[in-house]
Amino acid sequence: MDAPDISLPDLLRQPPEKLRALQDGLLRQMVALCYDHHPFYARLMRSHGLEPRHIQSCDDLVRLPPSSKKDFLDDPEAFRIDPDALPPEQSTLWKVIYTTGTTSGRPAPVYVTAFDHFAYLYACSKRQELIGLKDTDRLANLFPLTAFPMGAYARAPDEVAAVGAAVISTHTGRADTVFPVHRSLDDALAAIVRHRATVLWGVAGFVRRILMRAQEIGADFSAVRMAMITGEASSTAMREDLRQRMVALGCAGDRIVNRYGSTEQGGSMVECQPGSGFHSLAPDQLFHEAVDPQTGARKPDGEKGMQAFTHLARRGTAFLRYLVGDEASVSNEPCPHCGRTTPRITSQPVRVGDIVKIKGTLVNLQNLKDRLDRHHELREYQIVVQPSDAADPFSMDELLIRIAADGDREAIAGRIAEEALGAAHVRPRIAFVDADEIYDPITAAKPRRVVDLRPPRD
Ligand SMILES: [Zn+2]
Repeated sequence: MDAPDISLPDLLRQPPEKLRALQDGLLRQMVALCYDHHPFYARLMRSHGLEPRHIQSCDDLVRLPPSSKKDFLDDPEAFRIDPDALPPEQSTLWKVIYTTGTTSGRPAPVYVTAFDHFAYLYACSKRQELIGLKDTDRLANLFPLTAFPMGAYARAPDEVAAVGAAVISTHTGRADTVFPVHRSLDDALAAIVRHRATVLWGVAGFVRRILMRAQEIGADFSAVRMAMITGEASSTAMREDLRQRMVALGCAGDRIVNRYGSTEQGGSMVECQPGSGFHSLAPDQLFHEAVDPQTGARKPDGEKGMQAFTHLARRGTAFLRYLVGDEASVSNEPCPHCGRTTPRITSQPVRVGDIVKIKGTLVNLQNLKDRLDRHHELREYQIVVQPSDAADPFSMDELLIRIAADGDREAIAGRIAEEALGAAHVRPRIAFVDADEIYDPITAAKPRRVVDLRPPRD
């Protein structure tokens, strides 16, 4: 297999038909490669009577049934292109990152070959006009040092290297190891001050805790000009909270760059400005669509469906029409804010698990999260759906909101209960707890904002 004809100059501003022609060509190569050498898709295509000649364009791709996270977690090795089928410069294993969520508790490997690694570096170095990282920046990698390499932790130094900036890794977190190499949140904060970091990058909930702690101790964050957040859906209100804290701290800037991606996908997606939607940074590596998970049909531009991506230039672990588990819409229209023509995810992605039935009513807990994020007095919060009687798993549902906050508890509880009634039409029980009980930034990679403790139902 030859290396593909890989890109176009100024890729994010190409006329849509030119971009689609490039994507179609890349897709044809990927489909042929997967048909011959990708165990899962070779099987899937044959079981549906599909051959590469049936999938010659991104429009034809709808003939292939979507695949799910469950398919991947059940057999991650089946999603790796056979390295023996490729020349060494494409197949040599560069690194392995892992995604969580397997039923066995073992993380699932995502193989990144030399080809994939260079593709990531290429996109990062070419598309910084959208992200805004500069070669003079000093970036604080605030992703935790976990027991296995997490995508974001591993990619932060790559992106910085691609740009020619500098990076410090703060190594918070905790792992089951005899080597005491982890640092505390205060150590991370001291490193930001010591190196005069200009950019913070981490999970939104963790960046927020860093900013809150910096406010508490009056840390010198005057060099910080930008914060990048990823790994956790964040609302407009949450990002505004971060921005206000940066202003209050006397930071050099208050830009919040909201990014969306996944370990499996690789390439990240970025907002050009708040609310613009997430622009694909690498439409020469990824094709995005919103699909109906039942029929596999593609949703029209702007209509919500299940998010799916297809790798267009990938040689390690590769996915075609892979459902990431979020609901959102996709648009191929030029961005009304910046004019870029690269495809965008145009609605805030909602985790499927965030749409739940409580007392028989369908509730979108993202709406409740959006409202709670506006309450700056909340240090942390967590939404719990559980049986109202702990001894009876089938008792009536209860909505419990656990909060950590300073101030007049009765007044705060009243305000939070009102928000829940407004957003979910359910009166919650409010419980006050310590912030670390909800999210301990040292032990947990990211906050769990929604917890459903009810027994599984079918
Ligand atoms: Zn834009």
